Amino acid sequence: MTRCSPARKLVSAGARLTEQWTPPTRRRVYAIRDRLREIYGTPMARPHGDPIAELILTVLSQSTNDRNRDIAYFSLRERYPTWQQVRDAPVDELEETIRRGGISKIKSARIKDILTALAPSGEPSLDHLRQLSVADAQDYLCDLPGVGRKTAACVLLFSFGMRDVPVDTHVSRVGTRLGLFRQKAPFLEMHDQMLALTPRGQELEFHLNLLRHGRRTCHSQRPACGACALARMCPRVGVE
Ligand code: SF4
Repeated sequence: MTRCSPARKLVSAGARLTEQWTPPTRRRVYAIRDRLREIYGTPMARPHGDPIAELILTVLSQSTNDRNRDIAYFSLRERYPTWQQVRDAPVDELEETIRRGGISKIKSARIKDILTALAPSGEPSLDHLRQLSVADAQDYLCDLPGVGRKTAACVLLFSFGMRDVPVDTHVSRVGTRLGLFRQKAPFLEMHDQMLALTPRGQELEFHLNLLRHGRRTCHSQRPACGACALARMCPRVGVE
């Protein structure tokens, strides 16, 4: 049993209790995708094929901005050229190396735990994931210390181009306001729903364009609805 699979069952049970929300039609999903594409274009990025790098980068991204995350990541790579060296480094040394990324005490311990779980000795690897089904790869990643469904989706999509879609705070907020997700749906339910509604082959585009819209227009505190190109198709407009 993993943290991915039983939650999926609970989520399905919870979803059945939903009274007012109905999943968006395919036509509506396409309309939202097209409008976002008009604004932000079609993102193109080839899978980079480095799943451990993606995993560690995602750990470092917690509770900080992209700049400090990147500084912490490059400090780490500069000091320790291999993941084996990162795993075997003293934890206080690791903590000092990634300090710029914030909550470095927690992150350094988490990184060491993950790399040790992957390989207690020798060089850690996640290359075998590309041979697995998406569900099996998700379960494998979610069994690692502190790894949840969003981190797993980042690794699978950005490293291998597998069909998974990360739902971060921006995607969850914009998606909920646009009616793609049930109000107050837990993150696991949103991940299942996001996968169900995302057109096949457009996982990266849908994730990135919803995220961009959250950063640029549909802000957490004061969404710029008056300037939003999606206002006419947004159920939130006129409600509040
Ligand atoms: S209309 Fe407002 S709430 Fe709806 S997507 Fe645009 S900014 Fe967000």
